Amino acid sequence: MSTAPPSHPEAIDPYALDRDGLAAVLAELGAPAYRARQVHAWLVRGVDDPEAMTDLPRDLRDQLGERFAPARPELVAHTVADDGHTHKLLLRYPDGEAIETVLMLYPGRATVCISTQAGCAMGCPFCATGQLGFRRQLTAGEVVRQVVVCDAALRSGTIDADSLPEDAPDHVTNVVFMGMGEPLANLPATLATVGWLHDPEGFRLSARGITVSTVGLVPGIDKLADVGLPVTLAVSLHAATDELRDELVPVNRSHPLAELEDAVRRYRDRTNRRVTIEWCLIGDVNDDAHQADRLAVIARRLRAHVNVIPMNPTPGVRWKEPSKRATHAFVARVRDRGANITLRDTRGRDADAACGQLLASYDLGSGSRLPAAVGAAERVDQLLPLRQGPAS
Ligand code: SAH
Ligand code: SF4
Repeated sequence: MSTAPPSHPEAIDPYALDRDGLAAVLAELGAPAYRARQVHAWLVRGVDDPEAMTDLPRDLRDQLGERFAPARPELVAHTVADDGHTHKLLLRYPDGEAIETVLMLYPGRATVCISTQAGCAMGCPFCATGQLGFRRQLTAGEVVRQVVVCDAALRSGTIDADSLPEDAPDHVTNVVFMGMGEPLANLPATLATVGWLHDPEGFRLSARGITVSTVGLVPGIDKLADVGLPVTLAVSLHAATDELRDELVPVNRSHPLAELEDAVRRYRDRTNRRVTIEWCLIGDVNDDAHQADRLAVIARRLRAHVNVIPMNPTPGVRWKEPSKRATHAFVARVRDRGANITLRDTRGRDADAACGQLLASYDLGSGSRLPAAVGAAERVDQLLPLRQGPAS
């Protein structure tokens, strides 16, 4: 651990720096260029304490100790569900804001679902995060660190071995921007994170292993296309007529379906990537034949793949999940009309970690925070990278 607190007026969270920014800090300190690469490699391995960067000279470690102000969240709770295949982390920042990150393990695949905002301003009425309203943006460092923590925990074996499936990979292979918040309403942090993830000296994820899910912010979709990486774009459609979408996805009033479709088409043409349409299926709201028919038309026009997620129940939401019968009838009808469609599992439900259930355990009414996921506290120490012990 560093002995002296960061004292430099420009002290910065190292994960908020991209590689050029890191190189600039090291150059300012008079260090040769390869030192920036060494520091970057430590950061990728989850080590942000210069004291633990043992291949750096003593004086450089001291200087970095002053320049770095790591914004480490506190791990408030770690909840395990689905026989160890789903891990939900509740992270709290020094200002009291909290977010959730979900690590999902599949055979040979480890997917992290990250948050980009504390709360969300978009107000989709079926989503727990939407009920919170907007709290604040996460910084780039706060978003990147969610991946760092999960990756380092997998690499170092610090997640309780009993709760890991045998075939779990030892590093993060996929990242989905489907946690709390609207990623395209926090473009700086989203794009910086995509940079870290795709960097061949960073997490080395393929662009297709990265999915950015958006409620349909058209200018943001175009800016994401400008990055020039074929990142998978998932569009949360949920309704195939403006009338219904205005209600389910209020931002539709600013960017109606026709405008959104154009943006998706531009994205697809520029990246050559098939776009995903997300459809949160709500009982007696958007599970009827008319919506299925309209959805099939849009999906075929966009050559998109439709992912149906039966609505996960969440407090304060008056709607109900669809019946099994309605769900299967909806999927079959869209498929019969020639569109690609799959039904997604409800992973994470028993840990309240499924889509739309991320609340960061705020008390909905008052906005105060609850001690979440009671019973998980004994696992807190097992996520070593949050505490920044020596590197493995
Ligand atoms: N803000 C972005 C990304 C986060 S939400 C977006 O809306 O796309 C991730 C996905 O969860 C979205 O498709 C969202 O519509 C869906 N979702 C929200 N609430 C849900 C719920 N209660 N049940 C199932 N899916 C939900
Ligand atoms: Fe925000 Fe997405 Fe939830 Fe809508 S569904 S409120 S955009 S997090």
